[in-house]
Amino acid sequence: MSNNRSYDNPTVSLIIPVYNESLGLRANLPIIRDWAEKSGVAYEIIIVDDGSTDSTWDVIAQVSREIPKIGALRLSRNFGKEAAILCGLKEAGSDAAIVIDSDLQHPPNLIPEMTRLWLEEGYDIVEAQKVNRGKEPFLRKWFAQGFYSVMRFLSGFDLAGAADYKLLSRAVIDSYINMPETNRFFRGLIAWLGFNKTTVPFSIPADDNRSSRWSTGRLIKLSFSAITAFSYIPLQLITVVGFITFMFSFALILQTLYMKFSGRAVEGFTTVILAVLFTGSVTMLSLGIIGAYLARIYEELKRRPNYVVRDRIGKKQLLNEV
Ligand code: UDP
Ligand code: MG
Repeated sequence: MSNNRSYDNPTVSLIIPVYNESLGLRANLPIIRDWAEKSGVAYEIIIVDDGSTDSTWDVIAQVSREIPKIGALRLSRNFGKEAAILCGLKEAGSDAAIVIDSDLQHPPNLIPEMTRLWLEEGYDIVEAQKVNRGKEPFLRKWFAQGFYSVMRFLSGFDLAGAADYKLLSRAVIDSYINMPETNRFFRGLIAWLGFNKTTVPFSIPADDNRSSRWSTGRLIKLSFSAITAFSYIPLQLITVVGFITFMFSFALILQTLYMKFSGRAVEGFTTVILAVLFTGSVTMLSLGIIGAYLARIYEELKRRPNYVVRDRIGKKQLLNEV
């Protein structure tokens, strides 16, 4: 691609969602800062403290005195990473933003290459793509693969290897933050948006022994909300299953009537039990699926904000201060 960006002084915001990161943050922030520095692009760092319950906020306050390009927002409680990302993106006043984890599992040495692809090659979205999933527990890897296959089948988007580590141009940021929906699945929505995009591969450092703090329950919840957000196929499946059971019932009805009129209607108790159990469970399952979508509609209708900001460090426009 040859359409170079024509910014005079391009600026980029690093968006870092953090939750209970007091242990690593002090050491990791300068590393991320150094790589931003190496990209040669003017930058700001926006940390979103997602309602940490440890001393994360104090650490941020301390580090921000040493690194003046750091600004921070503190959410009033833990709203989840998706909300924290949205908050950071809304805050960014730059020409592009890079969303990156604070724990170095998203290697910050990709930052110069990501900004280069954006500025010199004109990509609107640069996605860092996981090529191996590091030392993850077997079950979790398996779950992730299963989730991506289901997601690919249901929504048509292939999210395998997709991480939240992305550079987004101003056009993409604006489209993203102006989406009206409350329930957001960052990776999925960015895939949905389109634009011209490219990927840079990365692997999770082999010596990384930090276990994920996403509990299995939370992962399942995230998967459900991602699926209901991107696909109506489960709802259509109900109709299909309904149709199949109807065909079955029809055959059974004919058989039953035939038995009755030929005077042999005493047998068949097993069939009755099976039919009742089967239709009962299919009905319940269908109600569950409808319920999941209903809950989403309810969530959207409430129009609650995705997050509430409790405190902040730094003025809104860090970029103009320097
Ligand atoms: N995080 C967050 N809110 C949460 C959970 C996590 O902002 O409720 C942040 C966390 O501090 C980290 C990033 O999101 O910077 C990724 O979290 P983690 O490393 O626990 O997850 P994983 O590496 O398994 O994706
Ligand atoms: Mg991590």
